Amino acid sequence: MTSFLGKLSSPKTLAAAVVGGAAIAGAYYYGGGTTLHAGAAPGAYKLFPAKADYPDLKKHNNVMASHLTPEIYAKLREKTTPGGWTLDECIQTGVDNPGHPFIKTVGMVAGDEESYEVFAALFDPVINERHAGYPNDAKHPTDLDSSKLKGGVFDDKYVLSSRVRTGRCIRGLSLPPACTRAERRAVESIATKALGSLTGEFSGKYYPLDGMTDQEQEQLIEDHFLFDKPVSPLLLASGMGRDWPDARGIWHNHRKTFLVWVNEEDHTRVISMQKGGNMKEVFTRFCDGLKQVEETIKKDGHEFMWSQHLGYILTCPSNLGTGLRAGVHVKLPRLSTHPKFADSLKKMRLQKRGTGGVDTAATGGTYDISNLDRLGKSEVELVQTVVDGVNLLVEMEKALEKGQSIDNLIPK
Ligand code: ADP
Ligand code: MG
Repeated sequence: MTSFLGKLSSPKTLAAAVVGGAAIAGAYYYGGGTTLHAGAAPGAYKLFPAKADYPDLKKHNNVMASHLTPEIYAKLREKTTPGGWTLDECIQTGVDNPGHPFIKTVGMVAGDEESYEVFAALFDPVINERHAGYPNDAKHPTDLDSSKLKGGVFDDKYVLSSRVRTGRCIRGLSLPPACTRAERRAVESIATKALGSLTGEFSGKYYPLDGMTDQEQEQLIEDHFLFDKPVSPLLLASGMGRDWPDARGIWHNHRKTFLVWVNEEDHTRVISMQKGGNMKEVFTRFCDGLKQVEETIKKDGHEFMWSQHLGYILTCPSNLGTGLRAGVHVKLPRLSTHPKFADSLKKMRLQKRGTGGVDTAATGGTYDISNLDRLGKSEVELVQTVVDGVNLLVEMEKALEKGQSIDNLIPK
């Protein structure tokens, strides 16, 4: 416990975070094993051997299920993080959701920063598979110098909108699957205080979810600015939807080109977006805004969860490293029905989604195309992958329009 508290960015400042007028004592965040969320009471594990608790994963197709052996389960079942989070709580979402219609999901989440260390025997192989090979001694690079991006202005006839997002979580507070209400409210208070001090292009306003009408919320979702309601079974089974809409909200600048989601899947999601194909401008704003947010957070005595090996620490292992997803909504009606489409995306390390978000199917040949990787490569490298890949996809679409073969364009 002592060594753990030593890792808090600034227990004093955290303790000073005021929620609803009451100061939260640093120790309050970690109830010394008190189970504040659904899960087995630690003592219950003593009643039966680990193999009696091993989940039924026969029908499963997610990354966790591919790596959780009875041996790993037995080794980790009774361990807890200093905050009292268990392996069973990490994997519950993957146990309850055997598959996903569109992507191979990870099937596990972290409850706090320490989850990645305490349950490393499972997280490490999962991270290794999800990020296409990531050795245990690898160091993650960060590069937010947007001037290094080559190109990045797409043809507006094909690219309808461009977006870059990442997540950042505040050290010392549990992640959304595990957090208490007080922790969640502390996140909201820390984030909105920092965001409230941004100036110029970045000055904006916070809109808490519970201060919005249903209609306003629907409109923000429809316009792609706001996260969906917690209807996804993935989100619900992980525990992230508890207490909705308490302490959730969206902050955005006046032009709605720089947005921060508060307390969705991560403490914060930072987003830069705009209509049309100017990814260069979107990425530049993303880097500038993110640096300002981090500076203000630091000034207030907090820091983001981060490690040299895993980069920025976020709830889902798929988002470790940069947490960056750079994507465009792009019209590819011809290419998307081509038999080599899926394979080409994979070779270019790109992912496709529907334009309504990860849980939607694409309609009318318009896709959300984004980088597949997040870890082991820098922000600049990942956005470059998207820029180069989308340029090629548009070139292929144009060739198909003219009735030409695309054999020579297909990536090797
Ligand atoms: P994330 O990975 O950021 O959580 P989701 O797939 O969950 O992304 O989608 C969240 C929201 O962001 C959805 O409303 C989606 O339509 C919107 N969105 C994602 N990419 C783009 C884009 N390039 N242009 C406009 N909206 C986008
Ligand atoms: Mg999402």
